[in-house]
Amino acid sequence: MFKTIESEVVKQHVSPELRAEFLQHDFERLKGFSLLVFGISIGIWLLFDLIVSFQTGQGFSYISLLFLAAFLVLFALTAAARRALHFYLINFAFVVTFAWGARLLIEGIPSDVRQAWLVICASTVLYSATVLPLNRPAFFAVLLVTWVLLNPFLGNVPEFNVRHSMLICYPVFISALTVYIFHHLSQAKLHNYAMARLLLDQAYIDTLTGIPNRRSFMARVGKRLEEDGEQRYLAMIDIDHFKRVNDTYGHDIGDEVLTRVALAIKHQMGDFEFARLGGEEFGLYLWGLNADQAQARLEQLRQATADLPGHPNVTISLGLAHLSLEGSLSEALIKADKALYSSKHNGRNRTTYSP
Ligand code: GH3
Ligand code: MG
Ligand code: MG
Repeated sequence: MFKTIESEVVKQHVSPELRAEFLQHDFERLKGFSLLVFGISIGIWLLFDLIVSFQTGQGFSYISLLFLAAFLVLFALTAAARRALHFYLINFAFVVTFAWGARLLIEGIPSDVRQAWLVICASTVLYSATVLPLNRPAFFAVLLVTWVLLNPFLGNVPEFNVRHSMLICYPVFISALTVYIFHHLSQAKLHNYAMARLLLDQAYIDTLTGIPNRRSFMARVGKRLEEDGEQRYLAMIDIDHFKRVNDTYGHDIGDEVLTRVALAIKHQMGDFEFARLGGEEFGLYLWGLNADQAQARLEQLRQATADLPGHPNVTISLGLAHLSLEGSLSEALIKADKALYSSKHNGRNRTTYSP
């Protein structure tokens, strides 16, 4: 089953909306990790700066302080960032600052090891970028700026001796490797996200009508309950004489009627929680209204359903229960069910309120 769904997801074209949603989700999930990477990078830069400054006898200069201040500002901006796009820009600024700062440091060490250190530093930056929550343009911008600022041949045309050939080959290899890792990791994460979304939709959306199912309703209402104070109500809705519809017109037409009623509930009650609880029964949770307003909304829905165009025409019966502060969701469901039973008993196509 897992493999079937996985291959279905892999074959599917990922829409730009889903990709954008994934990138934002990835950023939110990895923001703490990104801060850790930035923090460690700042720490390493500072350590190397202290080593180079003091072992070469240059001392700690105001330029080091300027870099440190820039790093801390970028770190604070990352901590405050809420949108993935903002993070891409901050990350770019961070890489520019880091690569520039590293270049200045490396220029302070003996010339025979400079080029090797530039390559080591660039490789480290690129490797870190593969695990950060970046989109493709943001990653390639990092790749470009890293090799511009940490290019071991900056200002010199390389001669083709053994040393230079190796200094060219290794950056090409490390660039290709990091591009491959970044691409592979992003695709895997995107597919996992798309699959989790698909499975969640299948678990929480009713297949026939496309509205939320009982599991979704119980979870969402359960989550809301604490916030809503005294003004909260639970309603049960049941289609009248639905068996007759099936018996007279067939199950397929019955399914169409069910979907039509479900969409009417979604249309009329979109600002509240609603779901198909099972069979031809629906649940509704309302908040922020007084009892009269709640009843008026249900009456509106009842009338709108009775007036729905299409054949065969059906009506609904409704039971509304007040959910007191002490009451539980299951108690309210029983209370609403009893109120619904009264509506059925008193002739259907009506609303009964149980305070
Ligand atoms: P009442 O006014 O008392 O509610 O009468 P009713 O006929 O609606 O009540 P009852 O509970 O006896 O019938 C419900 C019917 O709903 C029985 C079942 O076959 C049908 N039903 C349940 N789920 C589905 C479904 O997914 N599709 C279709 N077409 N029918 C369904
Ligand atoms: Mg029923
Ligand atoms: Mg019924």
